[in-house]
Amino acid sequence: MQQTEKPWDSLWINGLLATQEDGYGLIKNGAIASKDGKIAWLGPMEDLRDSPERLAKTVYDLKGHCLTPGLIDCHTHLVYAGNRYYEFELRLQGANYETIARAGGGIQSTVMATRAATEESLLQQSLARAKALLAEGVTTLEIKSGYGLDLETELKMLRVAKRIGEVLPVTVYLTFLGAHALAPEFKNKPDEYIAAVCHDMLPEIVHAGLAQAVDVFCETIAFDLAQAERIFKTAREFGLAVKCHAEQLSDSGSARLAAEYQALSVDHLEYLSESSVEALARSGTVAVLLPGAFYYLREKNIPPVELLRQHKVPMAVATDCNPGTSPVTSLLLMLNMACTLFRLTPEEALAGVTRHAAKALGLDKTHGTLTVGKVADFAIWNVEHPAELVYYVGFNPLVNVVKGGNVCHSRVCGNE
Ligand SMILES: [Zn+2]
Repeated sequence: MQQTEKPWDSLWINGLLATQEDGYGLIKNGAIASKDGKIAWLGPMEDLRDSPERLAKTVYDLKGHCLTPGLIDCHTHLVYAGNRYYEFELRLQGANYETIARAGGGIQSTVMATRAATEESLLQQSLARAKALLAEGVTTLEIKSGYGLDLETELKMLRVAKRIGEVLPVTVYLTFLGAHALAPEFKNKPDEYIAAVCHDMLPEIVHAGLAQAVDVFCETIAFDLAQAERIFKTAREFGLAVKCHAEQLSDSGSARLAAEYQALSVDHLEYLSESSVEALARSGTVAVLLPGAFYYLREKNIPPVELLRQHKVPMAVATDCNPGTSPVTSLLLMLNMACTLFRLTPEEALAGVTRHAAKALGLDKTHGTLTVGKVADFAIWNVEHPAELVYYVGFNPLVNVVKGGNVCHSRVCGNE
């Protein structure tokens, strides 16, 4: 007699599940099943309706380890060439911003290095950083362009970002950040540069299918509100989502403006005002907090976490991995810093790299929680409780990663 087909592909048993659906969403002595890359079932072991071997083709024993959704880093600039260690050193020897700029430092040095790099070299340099993130349980990653500032290099960066998602077991979300800084060719002509971003670059990038969202750096040292609005308008015309680097060094009102364009997220927010918090609550925009840049720049003003809490604005946490102000490739360290520096609770910090990070990328229907029907992206940890992930500094308790139902042996594939 033919054996009846097993309902699930894989089943993980004997684990502590942190579903992240509502708070930690703990299920003690739990099990979770996948079918065709999606979560097919989860619950307490005693609710399994048959023996594990009869329910799934492959059964994995979690041995009491904690299983969370795969982590999501929703704000990175990890595709770039070169690095800026010399600038870090110069600054600590007492050099000021001008001296560093004269020595060829600052964002322009990264732009020059990224323009000069071959696509293959850019990929190899960037893969090293992506692998470091994956080794800490990251299964979804946003990557921004913005170190080309010309069409050719912006396309190159986005192709490399997309390629990272093909080479490694990670979902890559592509964001076009042409309005990151003023291209050297447009010195003293920011409006003309913004016009080039909107009319020359964006249509080509959309045509190549290399952007899901458009971002802009709105700040006294970058682009103003009117310029940001031109970017948002054009992005929406192309049907792309909007994001904004907002209120990092001053309160420009850019978060409020981004909320009017239903931004998925506004990011940084050290100087966010209460009226802007209210605007974010109305538009359902996620507040992305970036403790790495805050720490590296030795900022003093922390984002208004209590106000964001009161107004129920979802808070995400990300690395902001970039060569100038946050050369960070540890999302676990950001969890800790979000608590120590910004006073998030461990529960809020973890929501910030799962449920709320998914929302910041518009992926909340498919990612960010352990929910039947969502993708089977998991991180498995040797911890007693998920708060332990937030508590350590420099210790990585990752046991394994599951991407789309497939076991990755992440520590191996992340560091080869
Ligand atoms: Zn950034």
